[in-house]
Amino acid sequence: MTPSAEAILELRQVSARYGRAQVLRDVDLTVRRGETVALLGPNGAGKTTLLRSAAGLTTTSGGSVRLRATDVSRRRPHQRARAGLCLVPEGRGVFPSLTVAENLRLQRGRGEALDLVYDAFPVLAERRDQRAGLMSGGQQQMLALARCFTAEPAVVLLDEVSMGLAPLIVDEIFAALKKLAASGVALLLVEQYVSKALEMADRVYVLDRGRVSWTGRPDETSEADLMRRYLAVQV
Ligand code: ATP
Repeated sequence: MTPSAEAILELRQVSARYGRAQVLRDVDLTVRRGETVALLGPNGAGKTTLLRSAAGLTTTSGGSVRLRATDVSRRRPHQRARAGLCLVPEGRGVFPSLTVAENLRLQRGRGEALDLVYDAFPVLAERRDQRAGLMSGGQQQMLALARCFTAEPAVVLLDEVSMGLAPLIVDEIFAALKKLAASGVALLLVEQYVSKALEMADRVYVLDRGRVSWTGRPDETSEADLMRRYLAVQV
């Protein structure tokens, strides 16, 4: 990824509110082709709202959202999905009564995308005929991710994919995400494990009370520095 690579997702001066509470304030954020961007911030900073605003699930009160240089601010969520954006929300987005293979077949996409996904998550290939609802929480999370990547998106937005999972499973998921990112998909990652996010990201944004309080490359900061200065955690 080069700094001049094409912008895939661009938020310009985005604001959002719930009733009278302003949750995002003039947020500028760019994810470029092939780039992994981490979005960090304390609880309630507005991270989920930012992902939802990009996906069209939360109505913004100002600013614009661009996907591959097209202004999609007025487009509905399914139109943004068709334009190449996929959101993996917190919690699991799979059909429990369908098998792994059926869950994946519901997505558009060519066979190569499916091969890539099975290569990144071998356990899904082994269990392709198993009902999703009978798998462990970690495997269901993998399937939720796999569904997104099977649709051959340009950018995937991930909301705390590690939430509630055992450390070994989290390692497995991040290893798979690295493989999938290497195939050229841009990622915007909200993550509670700061170390994991810094290890994987090309760039980081920190959100605090709805504003970007820091942005830079992981090698320009450290986990301890971010935690102390921006995430209100004593280290
Ligand atoms: P967390 O890490 O706790 O998930 P976050 O950074 O993702 O936090 P958001 O979930 O975007 O933050 O929430 C930002 C603020 O907006 C919080 O104060 C939250 O209480 C509030 N909020 C979120 N969703 C709604 C809603 N549907 N209606 C009203 N207020 C909301």
